[in-house]
Amino acid sequence: REVRVCMAASCQSSGSLAVMDALKDACGDGNGTCHVKGVGCMGLCSAGPLVAVADKDCGLDASLLYRDVTPNDAPDIMGSVCGAPVERLRCPTDQPFFARQHKIVLENSGIIDPDSFKNYVAAGGYAGMVRALSEMTPADVLREVTTSGLRGRGGGGYPTGLKWSTVAKMPAGQKYVICNADEGDPGAFMDRAVLESDPHRVLEGMAIAAYAIGANKGYIYVRAEYPLAVERLQTALRKAKRAGFLGNKIADTQFNFEIEIRLGAGAFVCGEETALMASIEGLRGQPRPRPPYPAESGLWGCPTLINNVETFANIAPIVREGGDWFASIGTERSKGTKVFALAGKIHNTGLIEVPMGTKLRDIIEIIGGGIPDDKSFKAVQTGGPSGGCIPDRHLDIPVDYDSLKTLGTMMGSGGMIVMDETSCMVDVARYFMEFCMTESCGKCIPCRTGTWQMHSLLDRIAKSQGTQADLALLEELCEVVQATSLCGLGQTAPNPVLSTLRYFRDEYEEKLQLPT
Ligand code: SF4
Repeated sequence: REVRVCMAASCQSSGSLAVMDALKDACGDGNGTCHVKGVGCMGLCSAGPLVAVADKDCGLDASLLYRDVTPNDAPDIMGSVCGAPVERLRCPTDQPFFARQHKIVLENSGIIDPDSFKNYVAAGGYAGMVRALSEMTPADVLREVTTSGLRGRGGGGYPTGLKWSTVAKMPAGQKYVICNADEGDPGAFMDRAVLESDPHRVLEGMAIAAYAIGANKGYIYVRAEYPLAVERLQTALRKAKRAGFLGNKIADTQFNFEIEIRLGAGAFVCGEETALMASIEGLRGQPRPRPPYPAESGLWGCPTLINNVETFANIAPIVREGGDWFASIGTERSKGTKVFALAGKIHNTGLIEVPMGTKLRDIIEIIGGGIPDDKSFKAVQTGGPSGGCIPDRHLDIPVDYDSLKTLGTMMGSGGMIVMDETSCMVDVARYFMEFCMTESCGKCIPCRTGTWQMHSLLDRIAKSQGTQADLALLEELCEVVQATSLCGLGQTAPNPVLSTLRYFRDEYEEKLQLPT
């Protein structure tokens, strides 16, 4: 049996390091009956620190799970390894939060030690890469990824197979693979959790991509504000190199792929792919017009494949199990699963993974456990500052790329911020506009001055100092900034305003000053 302690950032912030030490002390030498190990995110962050007692190789569903654990609970928990469960700490694993999930990306999270290469391999890690290199041609890999129907999980939903095929078709020569780990949306922590919980999974996905498109060099661009994720990536990279999977010519193949980690300095705009590449090149992180697209002319003018963390984390299972298997999950046009970070006014804040097409109501009310403090649900913001809010009357919508667009929002990378009846939607719009205004890189005028102007108008309206003319000007500016900004940051900055106006216009109107 093993005792698993969640050592992801959220549980560490609620004290799991001290719990881990106490459990090790209580275990002593363990007499060979049990072993205490740190694992990645178990998902239910609101109940942390989480500790699971399980047989080796068993998933969370077959574990004894304990919540809100303190160091003082360590002797009782160790006693339950061979004895009766500690009922006062028990967190049922058959509750909908766990039972309604379908884990592909997070299949190892909360089970393996992210710093252990052996743990990853024992869980089937690098089997996808070995299969690709030993049994498949690059064209076979491209075919599987295309068949899977996987779409980019960074927000845009571009078909991954098509993107990979475009880069693969470019003339042979220097090509790059980039993993975009510059997760910056307020309330989003999916990529951070994946990197902290299962970093080899991302390296393996990148290596398979490199094989498929003919690249020999990759970069992971990760924000420096994620020190634990960076540390675990560095460890994983070192161990994968030592094991001969990366940075060496693989025997009997011509494949030799090296990955470098680059740290982002906290600019949200560097999550935009052209700004990200500029930053890697050592230039100021500002977007440039497209075309040319990175697939043709990316890093240092070379064909470059960019996907985000979650997209790469889906690749190894696709190659291992086959594209058809992946395509059997989800909806007609949105295949597979999606990881979401639940935050805000919801009982079960944390990380979940559900099949595409799961109803939003099921996510909020059943998996998320609904709204705390007897309050009622008001709206959920998806897609971060580029997305929009969805009100109660649309909660039965299936969550997929296309359905969310019809509501004026977007999937985004997977942040979901839930708001209850006490949230003021004008304040929500002002908050996101302030974020975009602060993060605008200033390169183009519509975004640089437009976000500032829109924020001033929102501020006036939120303080009940605005007029009908201000509201009209705000709507006009939304259109202009959307249509004329250079990159996605500016083009989507008006979305939270537009969607709150669409569903909660009465809240704006109530705050307007009456004409004298
Ligand atoms: Fe910079 Fe905004 Fe223009 Fe994008 S839209 S290039 S963030 S000023």
